[in-house]
Amino acid sequence: MTTTGAQFDVVVIGGGPGGYATALYAAAAGLSVAIVERDKVGGTCLHRGCVPAKEFLETASVYRSVRGSAEFGITVGEPTLEFSVSQSRKNAVVDRLFRGLAGLLKGRKVTVLAGNGTLLPGRRVRVTEGVDAGTEIVGRAVVLAAGSVPRTLPGLPVDGRSVVTSDEFLDLDRLPESVAVIGAGAIGCEFASLLSDLGARVTLVEALDAILTGCDADVAAVVHRSFRKRGIEFRLGAQVKGFVPRPTGPGGVLHLAEGPEIETDMVVVSVGRRPRTEGLVAEGTAVVIDERGFVVADRYQRTHEPSVWAVGDVVGGTPQLAHVGFAEAIVAVKCMLGEPVVPVDYDRVPWAIYCHPEVAFAGLTEDQAKARGLEVVVKKDPFGGNSRAQILGDTEGLVKVVAEKAPDGGAGRIVGVHMVGPWVTEQLGAGYLAVNWEATAAEVAQFIQPHPSLSETFGETVLALTGRGLHLG
Ligand SMILES: Cc1cc2nc3c(=O)[nH]c(=O)nc-3n(C[C@H](O)[C@H](O)[C@H](O)COP(=O)(O)OP(=O)(O)OC[C@H]3O[C@@H](n4cnc5c(N)ncnc54)[C@H](O)[C@@H]3O)c2cc1C
Repeated sequence: MTTTGAQFDVVVIGGGPGGYATALYAAAAGLSVAIVERDKVGGTCLHRGCVPAKEFLETASVYRSVRGSAEFGITVGEPTLEFSVSQSRKNAVVDRLFRGLAGLLKGRKVTVLAGNGTLLPGRRVRVTEGVDAGTEIVGRAVVLAAGSVPRTLPGLPVDGRSVVTSDEFLDLDRLPESVAVIGAGAIGCEFASLLSDLGARVTLVEALDAILTGCDADVAAVVHRSFRKRGIEFRLGAQVKGFVPRPTGPGGVLHLAEGPEIETDMVVVSVGRRPRTEGLVAEGTAVVIDERGFVVADRYQRTHEPSVWAVGDVVGGTPQLAHVGFAEAIVAVKCMLGEPVVPVDYDRVPWAIYCHPEVAFAGLTEDQAKARGLEVVVKKDPFGGNSRAQILGDTEGLVKVVAEKAPDGGAGRIVGVHMVGPWVTEQLGAGYLAVNWEATAAEVAQFIQPHPSLSETFGETVLALTGRGLHLG
């Protein structure tokens, strides 16, 4: 039991990736640490985000493999899906990881307090509404890591049945026959992909004129083509007007500003996430919350209040990714310890989208590089020519490398690596290193890729950038 007034080197509010990484890294450095968590350590990522979503995408992948097994001479009947079993498996995976994390925190002697944390002046943190409600502790440093929650749309009230966000979607134990997914960003495309692979009729509704607008256009085009081939319908440039539920049963009619309405069993709203800053900071501190509700922090994760840091999704203007939260946590702790620290370079963080085909990239897209006035040299190599991809029977996709033009007109420093295709989320490492090491195409081209492997496509693309590819011109 933690007593009121107890002092810690670091008090963290929020136990998601940003918060628990702060706690683990600070504890590894010998600091005393407390986390205040209103729900379960692991946060969105473990309980309502990355892990459960990827688990269901794996279910979709197994389903696809079974359906395609005849190509390998393995004949099975038409597979059937019992989604409640997938749901139980997902829960078991999440639970194992949760228990592992809780054990890790305990092993590092991190105190976990259950309840809502509010920062008060003087780096005091008051706990309300949980088992530890009423406790007040003090940190020599405080880290705000309260994360984010799904955004919703006006005229589209979430009822958990016909209209859901990612939170409810990941807890379903029966899949609807038809779904309209609103938002064609990373999460929307992951959901559309898995739903379609598992047999649902999917319409992807997006206000912009394209899907995956944060990705390189060539990569997004491959995903768009693949989705279309698999029967996903698109309503791009479409504004949602409202939803009229069916008088009985789930589902209803989704109205758009233009074009025909969509009759659907379920609407999944995936239009981004907003910071969870309600009640996070009391009056009397200098912490600044911007007009959109995000905590304002500098490149070293410092807020305007001395010795109060902020990391993860709660910080505005940075990619909402678990591994960005991890990296920011390390920056904050090193900063507290007065150690030399390199802030996160948000232009060069790795991105991974686990739809089918997968997407992974780091650095500038071709368009971004040009918009910044860089003269670029670009090479693209499709996976179709890759022997491992042929063996897998999964040849959709390509690797694209964007390099700055060198003074001799050839390829110089690599500024962006973009991949779409089989297992690219596991292949990005080399591209990520190339971009962040500011390596030139000639330097990276010296490295050998194993044969036969999917990574040869990256190697070949870089070799071709030097002007002499083996297979690629
Ligand atoms: C469907 C989906 C899929 C995703 N897939 C990926 C992916 O593949 N890769 C990736 O990198 N990212 C992914 N993300 C994003 C990722 O989940 C987030 O970027 C990450 O969880 C942010 O970590 P965080 O610690 O900042 O916040 P969160 O994970 O949101 O954690 C914040 C924690 O703080 C707690 N909390 C909030 N306020 C208080 C308070 N006042 N007092 C006490 N506790 C509080 C919350 O209960 C929560 O546990 C996905 C997200 C979703 C929704």
